Amino acid sequence: MDSHFSRTPNDDRLVLELRRDLHMHPELAWEEVRTAGRIAELARNAGLEVREGVAKTGVIAVLRGGATPPASGRRTMLIRADMDALPINEATAGRPHASTSPGKMHACGHDGHVAMAVGAACVLARGRANLPGDVVFAFQPAEETDGGAAPMIAAGALVDPKVDAAIGIHLANTIEVGQVAAQPGPVTAATDGFVLTIRGKGGHAARPHLSVDPIAIAAQVIPSLHMLLTREKSPAQPGVLTIGAIHAGTAGNVIADSCEMRGTLRTYDPEVRTYLRRRVEEVTASVAAANRGSAVVEWDGGAYPPTVNDPHVTAIVRQVAAGVVGDANVVVHEASLGGDDMAYFLEAVPGCYFRVGSANTEKGINGPGHSPRFDIDEACLPIGVDLLVGTTVAYLSGV
Ligand SMILES: [Zn+2]
Ligand SMILES: [Zn+2]
Repeated sequence: MDSHFSRTPNDDRLVLELRRDLHMHPELAWEEVRTAGRIAELARNAGLEVREGVAKTGVIAVLRGGATPPASGRRTMLIRADMDALPINEATAGRPHASTSPGKMHACGHDGHVAMAVGAACVLARGRANLPGDVVFAFQPAEETDGGAAPMIAAGALVDPKVDAAIGIHLANTIEVGQVAAQPGPVTAATDGFVLTIRGKGGHAARPHLSVDPIAIAAQVIPSLHMLLTREKSPAQPGVLTIGAIHAGTAGNVIADSCEMRGTLRTYDPEVRTYLRRRVEEVTASVAAANRGSAVVEWDGGAYPPTVNDPHVTAIVRQVAAGVVGDANVVVHEASLGGDDMAYFLEAVPGCYFRVGSANTEKGINGPGHSPRFDIDEACLPIGVDLLVGTTVAYLSGV
């Protein structure tokens, strides 16, 4: 790493303390007020221009470099970190920095994302005289719900300075600390949530022929929808459909009037996505009709597009990562059908969303994301800071 952009023990301490402080004080989507306040304070201390209240609780911090830009032109890199926690009761008893808010927990590593981005801001700010371009830090609300990325972009996150590329980290307990996964192409899925309402005709359990049983219809709709994934899309294309909730009925001797099913469809390819969305509607309607019922399909408006990495920026991340963790530890992650609104930043500008390993199986730190036993090996934090700093400096230098 260029010595102008090296971490100091103070940076490492600040990052570690910030991660623990945020972990102890998790805030849910759109409520990240304390979190945003801490970020704004630290970014101002580091000398950045700070805008608060961007898309409600979001924070934008801008760092303008003082070095001569490369012949290819002055560039701006955006570094994104999501801030929100999850409505989960933490079950990591005995850890000194466990959540102090019952029912709220940083179980997806966003506390670490914020801490690494703030750490990168401190390192880059100290080296600003040697920084040949600008950096925008976007601390966004509500990744876990309906997404703060698109509203932040609408509020001007990508203008003044005009952003040319974007990067972001997701910590991952699917890989070990000391490993980094970065790859071109799609890295998170398009997520289409839906509600299927099967309408039947309620009646007496002993006289089904005088009723239309929506629960029996729902029981046929589910395998028919699963068939779409195994029989109507190429097996080479990632895709999954899960019905996660089903609600109907009030008593064992009553045929219900209707049945509601909630689920999610996840895909990478836009054509596969469009096709399967149409087929979910057709299959649900026709299975219901074949059984004398009817169906309504509603798609939830908060669907995220896939996050797609740019080959050039990804190559820079991989090269920088090889210098930080060694060639053999720069890996390709298996396809994930999780969703993430980093997608909106990477729809707008080229960039790379990459994973930094945070598991330590030997120490028993490997609870999956979104589980009450999730924790990270904090040794991942300085690695993440180095990757954000190194990639930014390389990109602004014209690589
Ligand atoms: Zn999450
Ligand atoms: Zn997350």
